[in-house]
Amino acid sequence: MPTKDRNLPSVAVRRENEVIMFDCGEGTQKQMVLSRIGFNKKMKIFITHMHGDHVLGLPGMLQSMSLLGRSKELDVYGPQGIGDFVESVNRTVQFQLVFPLRIHEVGPSKALNEPYYEIKAVRANHVIPCLSYALLEKPKPGRFNPKKAQTLGVPKGPLWKKLQLGEDVKIGGRIVKSSDVVGPPRAGVKLVYAVDTRPCSAVRRLASNADLLIHDGSFDDSMRDKAKEYGHSTASEAANLARQAKVKQLVLTHISAMYSNPRVPLRQARKIHRRTVIASDLMVIDVKTSN
Ligand SMILES: [Zn+2]
Ligand SMILES: [Zn+2]
Repeated sequence: MPTKDRNLPSVAVRRENEVIMFDCGEGTQKQMVLSRIGFNKKMKIFITHMHGDHVLGLPGMLQSMSLLGRSKELDVYGPQGIGDFVESVNRTVQFQLVFPLRIHEVGPSKALNEPYYEIKAVRANHVIPCLSYALLEKPKPGRFNPKKAQTLGVPKGPLWKKLQLGEDVKIGGRIVKSSDVVGPPRAGVKLVYAVDTRPCSAVRRLASNADLLIHDGSFDDSMRDKAKEYGHSTASEAANLARQAKVKQLVLTHISAMYSNPRVPLRQARKIHRRTVIASDLMVIDVKTSN
């Protein structure tokens, strides 16, 4: 449930000129306004599961996008039932979509492959079917060294472009190799969103070496039985998983409404995984790779 300090789950990843959203709890559109994420951005939404706190914000957001005259298509991915849900709300409320909406029911084996990144899904361990997602950027080309290119006698212009694209070039009878002036490929960012789940091996594997893991941390350690019963994780369980997966930074989220100040679970998690924070509404995290 929302509290006076805490809204329902949703994470927006701003990548280049695109917004990749994970979950859309009730009130997400208001949070989008506050965080100045536009309603006509190139966007994809990934829903973890069909519990209301993760999906009830979607109809309102679609309605607002229509009222604002969104023109770009929108892709929504989620488990079985997401199509029925959107279709039935649209049938009864008739929000008259003015933009192309495509709903994709996805499972753990299916991944979305885009030119610069992919989204992977695994089956989480919750009380109903639930997916955890990873955003994996593909390796980026190495850095081009213009000074070195000049020193090697390659003039600025189309030959630089060729070198940057990995091609060797011929200059005055000599070959200048791309690898002479372009550094090694740089790893892309890996970000994992795993909420409403017990700690499980599928998520652990998915999160291996992630730059950022946003994980269920519903309860503190004294509530372990409750976490088990409801298919959630305690702070220490999430931190242990993050440590085993060698995650660089852990963000605990889906904090139970019983904690007005979640100092206790934070302390418990940090004993195990030092780089841990508790998500707060509108928190912004700059995710970078280490190289
Ligand atoms: Zn749930
Ligand atoms: Zn939930």
